[in-house]
Amino acid sequence: MRVVHNWISGVQAPTSDHLDDTNPATSQVIARIPRSQASDVHAAVVAAREGARVWSRTPASERAIALRRIADALEARLDELAALESQDQGKPVSLARKVDIPRAIANFRFFASALEQETLASTRMADAINYEARKPIGIVGLITPWNLPLYLLSWKVAPALAMGNAIVAKPSELTPLTADALAGICADILPAGVFNLVHGLGPECGQAIVEHPEIKAISFTGGTATGRRVAATAAPMFKKLSLELGGKNSTLVFADADFDQAVAGAVRAGFANQGEICLCGSRLLVQRSIYDRFVEAFTAGVQALKVGDPAHPDTDIGALNSLAHRDKVEGYLSLARDEGGTVVGGERSPGPGAFLNPAVVTGLEPTCRTATEEIFGPVVTVHPFDDEDQAIAIANGTEYGLAASVWTSDLGCAHRVGEALDVGMVWVNTWLHRDLRVPFGGVKNSGVGREGGRWSMAFYSENKNICVKLGDRR
Ligand code: NAD
Repeated sequence: MRVVHNWISGVQAPTSDHLDDTNPATSQVIARIPRSQASDVHAAVVAAREGARVWSRTPASERAIALRRIADALEARLDELAALESQDQGKPVSLARKVDIPRAIANFRFFASALEQETLASTRMADAINYEARKPIGIVGLITPWNLPLYLLSWKVAPALAMGNAIVAKPSELTPLTADALAGICADILPAGVFNLVHGLGPECGQAIVEHPEIKAISFTGGTATGRRVAATAAPMFKKLSLELGGKNSTLVFADADFDQAVAGAVRAGFANQGEICLCGSRLLVQRSIYDRFVEAFTAGVQALKVGDPAHPDTDIGALNSLAHRDKVEGYLSLARDEGGTVVGGERSPGPGAFLNPAVVTGLEPTCRTATEEIFGPVVTVHPFDDEDQAIAIANGTEYGLAASVWTSDLGCAHRVGEALDVGMVWVNTWLHRDLRVPFGGVKNSGVGREGGRWSMAFYSENKNICVKLGDRR
C-alpha cells in the first residue's frame, strides 16, 4: 500500500498519526496519509518562512521558468496522474485524462505566461507620477476539496507561486494522491520551503492553517458551511480571503433553443463528474411549451449514460466520492419522494463501490429543499416555466449564486436573462466553457472574491502605489 507523507521544506516529513485513503469504486484502502495536527502545520510554516524569503527575491522570469518546468513534469506523468485521480476520486479515468490533468498543466503554463506578460499601470499627475508595485503576500494557505483535486489545487498553486509566495497547502483528506505527486515534482524544481503540503482532516489540519498567524492569506474552495467557519476564523485576523463555495445552478432552456444541443448540454451540465462539480446544472428549467418533449429526451439521454468502472474508457459516470457521500445523495432522493417528486433512476449498483445511477426528478416545486439545496451528486430536478421573468425568478430562488447556463436562439433573451441572474458566471448555449483569463467565482452563499487571470494575480499579491514627485525646473 502507498504511504503518503507531508512535504515540508522539499522533503517528506513523517507524522505520528494517520488516515486511510479509500478508492470509492472498490472500497479498498489504497493509501495511508498523515493526520496532521497544528504542530505539523507550524513546521510547514517555519519552512515556508525561508521559502518565502528566497522565492520573493527570485526574478519573475525565473519563477515563470519554474512554473513551466512543473507543467512539463506533470505532462510527462499525465497517464499516471489521471489513473491516480480516478482511483482516488471515483471519476472516469477518461475524464481525468481529458480534463483534470490537462487543466492542471495548463494552469501552470497560463500563469507563467501571465506573469511574463503583466504590465502595471502608472498614473500621471501634473507634478508627480504614481506607479503600481506588487509585492508577494508572504505565506499563503491553500485548502481544496475532493471533486477536482489537482485541477483546483493547481489553480491556486500556480498563481500563488507566480506572484512569489510560499505555500502551505492542504488537499482534501479524501483525495490526497495527486497533490502528493505535485509536491514531489515541486521538490525537484522549487527552492526548499516554497511549496509545503500537509495532509489531514479539515477541523484539525485545515483549521490550523486558517488560524496560523503567519499565514497571511487563505484561498479556500469547498462547501458553504465550511467556508463560513473559515471566514469566522480568518476575518478577525484580517487575512486576505478568497472563498469559492457551493452551488445550485440552473440550466434554463427556452422553447426557441436548438433542441438537440440543449438536451446534450443539459445532460452534460447535470452529470459530468457524477454531478460532483460546483458548476453542475442541477436544476433544469424548461419553457412549458416544450417541457414534456424535453423531459422525455433529457431522461433518455441520462439513461444512456454508462455507469461503471472508472477505469473503463467508455464509462460516463464513475463512483461517487465515498459511500458516505452516496448515503447523502440517496437521502436527497428520499426527500424528493417525500416532497412529492417522481424519481427516474437513482438506483444503487450492486457491489462494494459507491455507484449510483443518475436520477431525474420531476413534479417538485422549485422552492422545495431538493430543488434548492446543494446535493453535489448525479441528481437533476426539472421544473417548467412560462416566461423569462418566471425563469429568472426560479433561477434566482436559492441561497447560492455560482453559475447558470441559458439555452436560446434569441440573443436578446440570452443577454437579458444573463444580466438578471444573480450568479458569478453565465454560459449561453454552452456549459463549462472556460478561458483562464476570465473571472471565476460566485455571489450570495457561493463565495467571496474572484479567481482567474488578473484576479488571481491580484489576490496573491499586495498592490502598492508609489507616488514620485517630479522635480521642479531649476
Ligand atoms: P468541504 O468544505 O467539506 O472541504 C473542503 C476542504 O476544506 C477540505 O480540504 C477539508 O478538509 C477542509 N476543511 C474542512 N473543515 C475545515 C475547517 N474547519 N477549516 C479549514 N479547512 C477545513 O468540501 P468538500 O466536501 O471537500 O467539497 C465539496 C464542496 O466544495 C461542494 O459544496 C462544492 O460545491 C464545493 N466546491 C466549490 C467550488 C467553487 O469553485 N466554487 C469548486 C469545487 C467544489
